[in-house]
Amino acid sequence: MADDKYDAIIVGAGPAGSACAYTLAKRGKNVLLLERGNAAGSKNVSGGRLYTYALELLEPDMYKRAPLQRKIVREQVMLLNERGSTTIDYFDPAFGEQVPQSYSVVRAELDEWFAGEAESHGATVASGVLVDGLIEESGKIVGIRSGADEMRADIVIAADGVNSLLGQKAGLFPDAAPNSVGLGVKETIDLPDNLISARFGVKDTEGAARVAIGCTDGISGGAFLYTNKGSISIGIVFNLVEAAKQKRQVQDIFQDFKMHPAIQPLIEGGTSVEYGAHLVPELGYNGIPKRLHREGFLVIGDAAKFGINTGLIIRGMDLAIVSGLAAAQAVLETNSPSQTGELYMKQLERLLLTANQRAYQNFHNIFEISRIFSAYPNLANDAMQFLFTVDGKTPKPMLSGLYGAVKRNVTLGQLASDGWKAFRSL
Ligand SMILES: Cc1cc2nc3c(=O)[nH]c(=O)nc-3n(C[C@H](O)[C@H](O)[C@H](O)COP(=O)(O)OP(=O)(O)OC[C@H]3O[C@@H](n4cnc5c(N)ncnc54)[C@H](O)[C@@H]3O)c2cc1C
Repeated sequence: MADDKYDAIIVGAGPAGSACAYTLAKRGKNVLLLERGNAAGSKNVSGGRLYTYALELLEPDMYKRAPLQRKIVREQVMLLNERGSTTIDYFDPAFGEQVPQSYSVVRAELDEWFAGEAESHGATVASGVLVDGLIEESGKIVGIRSGADEMRADIVIAADGVNSLLGQKAGLFPDAAPNSVGLGVKETIDLPDNLISARFGVKDTEGAARVAIGCTDGISGGAFLYTNKGSISIGIVFNLVEAAKQKRQVQDIFQDFKMHPAIQPLIEGGTSVEYGAHLVPELGYNGIPKRLHREGFLVIGDAAKFGINTGLIIRGMDLAIVSGLAAAQAVLETNSPSQTGELYMKQLERLLLTANQRAYQNFHNIFEISRIFSAYPNLANDAMQFLFTVDGKTPKPMLSGLYGAVKRNVTLGQLASDGWKAFRSL
């Protein structure tokens, strides 16, 4: 390989890298897609919910041949306290019928399929290759190094994930600061399909997505459950710095969540088949590095810190795919490497990735309201307990009972200031 020269070398066969390789290869470019894992997807952890509009942007109906699991038709939000749970449940079997909406996915399968799609259009996919350096000449990036091997290309595209070593080597940004990333832990639990459907109240091809707060010991973060075919993805994402301050072990928080009386029955009898931990970009728009390119070099996907987490939805894969498409379109648009970077930024605008990120720009401030992660879920459960309790005693007046639930958890001053902060963030 040492003497080969490619039109593009893409490092990392996650959704960003494969989307980019697919688009370039389909348009006849000579593409090399490098992956450090033994196969695409072997290193990837994700809750596993893909918003399929991104595949539609790549190619109409592409999502129909992707290895998708269940179409999400049920959205549930759980507010947990130590013993109880208050759940908001939105169900609509027609949800997403008109346009592709979201599906649960198993990353190992999705990533392997995606890299295979790029390969089928002529991209060279090489697994088990750890890229550990960039080749720079006259201020321009002209290739990559993997151990003693050197490979050259007109453009190198870093799709190497949230810790992007290549973005750092290119001098575009420093190592991710601990407060800019969350830690995600995920487990896949095998269960018979009929049990999954019954427990989550969906039909066999339909799926449910649940998010939960109040399960992280007051640490900023939340949990998720997604139904797949024959398995459940369960995980938790939380703020690393706060967890370290509280000296809490990741696996203890996760184990407590799985053993919660409202969660345990959902996974009972299942077999754990996969467990992993990974960082997630946390700051949204405000975490995106100022520069995502230099001559001969672009950064896409998690490496560029694209990500949206509203507490209700976690988006990373779709943004990774869109950014891969944006990079490919920029490369296809010009033969002048000095212009590719600016064109890439324009494509991110045109494909609305930047607008999407901007729309949630201040959302992250909500997560600074620490009471969201324990006091308010407690309040919701206390209020529900009051409303549903019939014990033969003279009931308290409704308003005074509800006020009691509020007073036990927050002061009126806290309620007002949190409400104002949340309003401003939204
Ligand atoms: C627990 C958890 C739950 C999540 N849930 C969701 C969800 O439900 N929906 C959603 O949309 N997003 C979710 N995300 C986010 C999503 O996983 C990421 O946004 C997405 O994977 C980013 O894709 P990517 O291609 O940019 O990077 P990655 O998927 O991280 O891929 C990077 C690839 O580069 C390879 N690589 C890295 N360095 C090198 C190197 N030096 N040489 C060669 N190869 C290298 C890696 O092995 C990897 O395959 C979740 C993340 C976590 C951690």
